[in-house]
Amino acid sequence: MTERCEWCEEKQIQETTASVYWELPDGSRAIEIKDTPTIKCPICEAEYQQETIVKGIEDQLFLVDRRKITSPINYKDLMEMERILKKNYFDFSS
Ligand SMILES: [Zn+2]
Repeated sequence: MTERCEWCEEKQIQETTASVYWELPDGSRAIEIKDTPTIKCPICEAEYQQETIVKGIEDQLFLVDRRKITSPINYKDLMEMERILKKNYFDFSS
């Protein structure tokens, strides 16, 4: 893994999983997502989700039927939920 810690640039970062709290895009509630892929830095003790993970979760929350999301939910289960929209029409970043 060639990545470095986003905070202190340490190279020996570890891949782990963690529970994260996420607010739904409509702001109606926050959910707990368990076993979310997380980077842990042994030097500065930062724990964070990589950009691609964050983007994946945010896209998925837009695309699924949010009424069906239970909390806590497993990251894998969330990402496997059926999408009701084909793409994220609110994503203007690309
Ligand atoms: Zn660090």
